[in-house]
Order: sequence, then C-alpha cells, then structure tokens
Amino acid sequence: MIFKLFAKFGEFVIFSARSFQIEFLDCKLEGKYLKLPKMTAVRMKLHRPISEKWKLKSVTVSREPSGKYFASLLFCCENQTAEKRPAEKFIGIDFAMQGMCVFSTGKRAEYPMFYRNTEKKLAREQRKLSRCQKGSQNYKKQKKRVALCHEKIRNQRKDFQHKLSASLAESFDAVCVEDLNLKGMAGGLHLGKGVHDNGYGLFLSMLEYKLEERGKYLIKVDRYFASSKICSVCRNKKEELSLSDRIYYCECGNRMDRDVNAAVNIMNEGKRIFAECA
Ligand SMILES: [Zn+2]
Repeated sequence: MIFKLFAKFGEFVIFSARSFQIEFLDCKLEGKYLKLPKMTAVRMKLHRPISEKWKLKSVTVSREPSGKYFASLLFCCENQTAEKRPAEKFIGIDFAMQGMCVFSTGKRAEYPMFYRNTEKKLAREQRKLSRCQKGSQNYKKQKKRVALCHEKIRNQRKDFQHKLSASLAESFDAVCVEDLNLKGMAGGLHLGKGVHDNGYGLFLSMLEYKLEERGKYLIKVDRYFASSKICSVCRNKKEELSLSDRIYYCECGNRMDRDVNAAVNIMNEGKRIFAECA
C-alpha cells in the first residue's frame, strides 16, 4: 500500500520550479525535520504522524500560488486493507446543486455558510485587483491576496469533504452514489460557487478509501438509472418530471421530497447491485 502525507514548509524557502520530485535516497527524516539536498533541515507541520514501519519512497515539493511550500511524502507500508465485512447499513446520496447532498435517511448536508463567506471575500479581493495597475507593486500584493483566498477556499472545501466522507464511512457499511460521469457532465458537485474543479470526483475518492480502510463498500449506480423519476415505494416511473416539482407525488399515495425520493432510489439500486455481486 502506498499513500501520501503532506507537510507544510515555511515561506522562506525559495525554489524556482512550481513542483519537483526528489528520490528518497536524497531525503532524510529527522523527527519533525525534513532534510532535502542542498539546504538545511526544515521543520514540518505534519498532518498525520509517521509510523516507524513506513518506508519513504519519494518527496514532492510544490509551491502554491500564494507562495507557501508543501512537501508531499510518499510512503510504502505493509498492505493493511481491512477484511470485507457484511453490509447491513446502506445509505443513498443524491447530490444536488450548491453543495447540498440529500440522504436516503431524509437528512441533508449543506456546505456551511461560513465557508461561503470566504467566497464573498474572494470576489471582493478580485474586484480590487481589477482596479490595480498591472505590474505595479500594489498589483503584485493584491494578486497574492487573491491567491491566498483561492487557497483558503480549496482547503475549506477539502475539510468539508473529509468530514462528510469520514462520518459517512463511520456510520454506514455501504454508501450508494451516482456514477461520476453523470454529475461530471453537469458541472460537478457545486461545493463552491463558480469553482469549476472536480469536486465530486475528489469527494468520491475520499469516500472510497475511507470505506475501504474499514472493510466497507462504495457502490456506484449507473448514470442512466433514472433516480428522480421512479417512485421509491411502488417503482412506477413518471415520464414527465419538471425541475420545479420539489415534491414527488405518486398515484400509490407516496408523497416525498424529490431529492429524498431520488436518494432512496439510489440506495435501492445499490442494494440490488450489491446482492448481485455478492
Ligand atoms: Zn408510487
């Protein structure tokens, strides 16, 4: 098993390249210090403790646009994949727009408002930048502020995704989601307004390894599976369902929030796939 560990450097180190890799033979770990060739050891801020059993494979140093340096340490260790266990507790997730996900349990998780405030700040700093004269000292300073804002948004989004995926992996045996491509084409999981990166894919990969570590399952449901049109109680399929219909009504008497209905369908489809593969 190979995994990565990140460490933050100080801002005083200067490299010319944006990112480069160093062979493990040239690097040394001394407690909380990392020694790279041609420089004195730098103190690291580790995001998880290093076990003595791990073997260092390589170090990649990269510079963020804000000027901060990070080292990503690649370790090799004994295969620790947990043994698969029976799946009893299933959950389905429907990813809605604007960073909201709806669970088959009826609960919702929303991207926190205080994170949104950083996005407002970014817009403000970007407006300021547009008023600066290009190439001037003020322009350079302002540009760094904008980069710092971007970095903060990225970190907050990751933080949110880590917490959400960890709590799901802890509470359930099998998590059923829609396959990446469907939402990928629709513009990804909108965890940040106007941030067009692959947020959904990143979230799924976090969820996947966290479940795997615990011997649990991530089940991907086919992208052509019409989760929002099917009644989760009687399986009847509606031909017409407009986006403005927030409540799903069915002739069988089922009356359910549209997104919860979709999440239940995703869970049921996941259970079906799981039973077939077992
Ligand atoms: Zn029905």
